[in-house]
Amino acid sequence: MRMSVYFAPTMKEAPAEAEVPSHKLLLRAGYIRKLASGIYEYLPLGLRVLRKIENIIRKYMDEAGALEVLLPILTPAELWQETGRWDVYGKELFRLKDRKNRDFALGPTHEETITDLVRKNIHSYKDLPKNFYQIQTKFRDEARPRYGLIRGREFIMKDAYSFDISEEMAVKSYEIMKETYHKIFSSLGLDYIMVEADVGAIGGKYSHEFVVKVPNGEAHIVYCEKCGYAANVETAKYEFELDKLPPEDEKPLEKVYTPNVSSVEDVAKFLNVDTKKIVKTLVYILSDGRKVAVLIRGDRELNETKLINYFKVLDCRLATSEELKEMNIVEGFVGPIGLNLPIYADISVKDLHNFVIGANEKDYHFINVNIPRDFEPIEFVDFSTARENDPCPVCKAPLKETTGLEVGHIFLLGTKYSEAMKAYFVDKDGKEKPIIMGCYGIGVSRLMAAAVEQSYDENGIIWPEEIAPFKLMILPLNIKDEKIKNKAEEIYKKALDLGIEVLIDDRNISAGAKFKDADLIGIPYRIVIGRKLKDGIIEFQKRTGEKEEISINDIDNLLEKLK
Ligand code: ATP
Ligand code: MG
Repeated sequence: MRMSVYFAPTMKEAPAEAEVPSHKLLLRAGYIRKLASGIYEYLPLGLRVLRKIENIIRKYMDEAGALEVLLPILTPAELWQETGRWDVYGKELFRLKDRKNRDFALGPTHEETITDLVRKNIHSYKDLPKNFYQIQTKFRDEARPRYGLIRGREFIMKDAYSFDISEEMAVKSYEIMKETYHKIFSSLGLDYIMVEADVGAIGGKYSHEFVVKVPNGEAHIVYCEKCGYAANVETAKYEFELDKLPPEDEKPLEKVYTPNVSSVEDVAKFLNVDTKKIVKTLVYILSDGRKVAVLIRGDRELNETKLINYFKVLDCRLATSEELKEMNIVEGFVGPIGLNLPIYADISVKDLHNFVIGANEKDYHFINVNIPRDFEPIEFVDFSTARENDPCPVCKAPLKETTGLEVGHIFLLGTKYSEAMKAYFVDKDGKEKPIIMGCYGIGVSRLMAAAVEQSYDENGIIWPEEIAPFKLMILPLNIKDEKIKNKAEEIYKKALDLGIEVLIDDRNISAGAKFKDADLIGIPYRIVIGRKLKDGIIEFQKRTGEKEEISINDIDNLLEKLK
């Protein structure tokens, strides 16, 4: 391809709204353009990267025996109503009406659609197992579309769905996908980690996320260098037994005056005790309307995902100041004694002695509180967010914490969709049973951004070879010099004949401008033809920085190696 006729509009500066490196660089290097919030156009370079990612995914999905289909983006509301997700999905679902006023949604995911296909066409154990996948545009009206391709409202996903006749077979399908994902993400040239993920209502060990490690990523994970355990901070079990304070004799309960001190740090300072001895009382409103009080030790953070799973609700939030007032609760001094709410406690509060709580009275706290003497929670539950240095739940070594981008998610669904939609099969014993399902997603367009987040420098992108839009770039530094131009054209032609994906910068612009663009675009290898050509020398450069002068007689060897 020739830069003189290509379309890779580079920019000196990224728009101010681009905050993260991948967003800035993909815009500046001419890979993508924004049409509207969370909606992007893929320019020729961007599309090439996307296709490379898709092809690697396709190769391993096909190898694993999954069958590629392409389902409609426009999906009728009836399907979503069958599973209840027409309501559950809320505002994230893009809804529209046809000319006859019938409701439709733009598919954010395709469990309903694929289950409909299967229930209509697969009826016997003889037709199972099956795994269908597609690579397709998805639509989600995200509350906060941001970071360019990382969180879009229109994005490309690979989604796959497995259908099995038994739990055991479904687990097998799940394990095959897990292995396949490892192959895919290693082949993409990414540094990633597989973590145990939140399984929601299903339980068990069958949800994993694949996270590309990047600084400041949205996913927070903890992992153990010693035994290899890795999990989402929302999922990681908190080993409180190893983080407990030593036992103490119970002291008498006392109410103390604590004027204007309500934050954990302030109370700890005022009373001169460790934050571990302050117990926070949080009032939560669950999405089903229930109100609960949750206690947690002052040094720990409550994890709302754990809370949502425990109470089996869709969402939860802290009560507002107004709501606390309506409940006659004194904000800043909430405590479990005398509180008219169901009280639950994080396990960090278990076996804690002589601790401090709010007294439900302005400017007062109780000290020397003890369970069960002074109050008793309904249950101790693991609500804690895991963090660096917590003991590993498997081998007890201190955990490490890192952030990343979730690029893949696999999930054993069980019979949630097949039962709701009556996708049954007739088993060997002649009985009708619901099909056991799994679902497996990969954020294809997010991967493009994740690769950049992992590999760039101050001058631009440094693509992993596996997904670079081109492998080689040829830079004739001065096109007006016939010798340079002709040599460049000769090498370009040879590279094309060898099947190398090559881009030649045949534009009549300065050498400096060519280098700038080449750095920005980030093609892995470069052949630079400049003044030294008269001495029979050209330069071979890698985008990672290494440079080497080579004789023009060695060009054939070099190209052969790049093939
Ligand atoms: P997230 O927690 O990031 O919102 P999710 O749990 O909603 O992700 P899934 O429904 O499992 O995501 O979708 C499968 C994959 O699609 C994700 O692992 C992610 O890589 C990608 N993905 C999800 N939402 C978006 C989005 N808004 N923009 C780009 N990619 C996305
Ligand atoms: Mg989401």
